This record gives sequence, structure tokens and C-alpha cells, in this order.
Amino acid sequence: MKRTVSFSQDSTNVFFHILTNCNLKCRYCYINRAQHGDITLPLTTINAWLNTFADQNKGANLVFLGGEPTLHPKLPAAIKTASRLGYGSITVDTNGYLFHDILFKVHPDEVDYFSFSLDGAARSTNDRIRGAGCYDTCIAGIKEAVSRGFSASLIYTISSVNIDELELLGTLLEDLPIDRCFFQVIGIRGRSKAKQRDKLQVSRSEWLEKIPAAAEQIAQLGITVTYPRVFLAPSEPFQCAGQVAENYFIFPNGRVYQCPLCEDFPVHSLFIKDNQLMETESINEKDLFQLEIPEGCVMNKLIQPGNLCYSEDGTPLHKVGCCLLKEEISYK
Ligand code: SF4
Ligand code: SF4
Repeated sequence: MKRTVSFSQDSTNVFFHILTNCNLKCRYCYINRAQHGDITLPLTTINAWLNTFADQNKGANLVFLGGEPTLHPKLPAAIKTASRLGYGSITVDTNGYLFHDILFKVHPDEVDYFSFSLDGAARSTNDRIRGAGCYDTCIAGIKEAVSRGFSASLIYTISSVNIDELELLGTLLEDLPIDRCFFQVIGIRGRSKAKQRDKLQVSRSEWLEKIPAAAEQIAQLGITVTYPRVFLAPSEPFQCAGQVAENYFIFPNGRVYQCPLCEDFPVHSLFIKDNQLMETESINEKDLFQLEIPEGCVMNKLIQPGNLCYSEDGTPLHKVGCCLLKEEISYK
């Protein structure tokens, strides 16, 4: 079954960066410590903020992120708090190093997914981006998590560096015990912004030629594949998740964004003060969400216009959809 996962007013997603520290220094890391600080939140604060969001959003889907969230020694306790508070699902995004014996300190009933990041299907490509040894560690982490009864998913961030390895990714996944695969599109933010000469963005024609086909191939293995639409025809409807959905990207310095493309700038629409969620004053990301432009996503045009193209009279040849608008293929 193939479907567009439309934004839903009924589901809320909470992406909680509990620290920004990481053991890796990935070449295209999206974390911007100048904007989000280097605090590791104490457990009391994590619990209080989990409470704040659980109160306002019953059954929200929660993702723990970092930096590397398993570097936080209190992650197991935070997971148990979230589980008690009734979050609809709990995911831990990890680079695969699985610090502090996390797999021994939480139960498979408490974590819906450990989601592992891989940026190349070939060891050499992945390790060139993420660092020596990361490929083997990630694969070993997936196998260990699944052997202990957890479900594992894979996050593969597509860029010009690794888009040619999708066939190889399909071969790799034939032998890996994952049941979900998320393609993400690389954002020109964080460290990617400083690496613009790597020309990371993928053209529309290359994306359309390769991504749906690769998703189909991997879905045939019984793996649910999710990927962003990215390019919309001029006639297709455009919606900004910031206007019609509930997504919260929480950082340890208290900033809360509703759009991930805004995270490089102090334009967050919300912040947490004394454990309460407050609104920031204009001008903030919410003002940007309301702008209607023929190119679709306003933030895309502002920070990564390289993926737009125009006819001779200046009309955009396509729109760029919201990065949170996904297509999902599943044959389960
Ligand atoms: S991309 Fe993730 S794993 Fe890599 S350095 Fe950044 S936070 Fe760490
Ligand atoms: S990515 Fe674009 S369309 Fe999506 S929430 Fe951000 S500004 Fe809105």
C-alpha cells in the first residue's frame, strides 16, 4: 500500500533533544550548538518537560534525540517517565553506539523503536561522512537491539554523496532485521551549511528517478519505507505543517521550534520557562509559515534555494513541499 501521510490534527509529535553532546563529529551534523547550547538536561528537568507536553498532548509520539541521546546516563529513567505519562509511542534515535548499556536498562515494552542512522550503504561512504568504525557499530547495534527483543528502524539521509548507493542499501537491508526505513532529505543547516561546496542537494529529476523506485524495492522486502515528497507539481496543493500540524522540536536551552528548517535561527515560536510552554514574540517562525509563495515552503526558499528552478519568465517549475510531508509504502 502506498499513501501520502497527510498532516493530522489528531497526532502530535514531540522531538526532544535531551542534550547536544555527541561522541561523533559527522560531516553534515545538523546540530547547531551556537543556537542550542551544550547543556545536558538534568533528569528532573527532562521529567518536568515530558510532563508539560504530555499534559497538553495526550498520546503524543515522542522521539528522544541528541546529540547522541544514549550518552545521557538518565535516558532509561526518562523513558520510564515517558512510558508512565502515556506517550503514544517512544522512539530513541541513535548513531548505534548505545551507551550506558541502554538495551539492558529498558524493556522492549517501554520503547517502540530504536532508530539507527546510516548515511551510506557502503562502509567507506558512511564512515567518510560519520567517522571510522560507525558503519560496523551501527550494524552491530541494530542486530543486538533486535536480538534483545526491541524493534529497529533505519534513518538514511539522502544527499548527492550517497544517492547512488540505494540499490546497495536494498541488498544490505535484505539481511538486516529492521522493519521500518526512513529516507530523509539533507537540510542545508548545521555543519552542512559550511560544506556547501560538497553540493549536497539532489536535483528534482534525480530524486524522482531514484527515490520512489528505491523505496518500492525496499518495501518489497517487507520493510515499511517512509520518504519526504520534497518536489510537488505546481498544481499540487501545498500545506505547511507549522500551520496545520502539531510538531515540537525541543532543545536543551528551552527553545521549542515547530519547523526543523528554522533551527539554525533564533526564530522559535515557543520556549519553556519554569517548566511552562510559552509563546515567543513576533517576528518568529509562525510569521514565516503564513507567507504564501509560488515556490511552496518559505524556509526552503530562504535557506536552500538550490533545489528550486524557474522558467524564463520567473515562474517556478515546481514547488517544494513541507519537509514533514511524507510518502509511506508498506506491503505488510
Ligand atoms: S549527526 Fe547525530 S550522530 Fe552525527 S555528530 Fe550530529 S548528533 Fe552526532
Ligand atoms: S518545512 Fe516549510 S512547509 Fe514545513 S513547517 Fe517548515 S516552513 Fe512550513
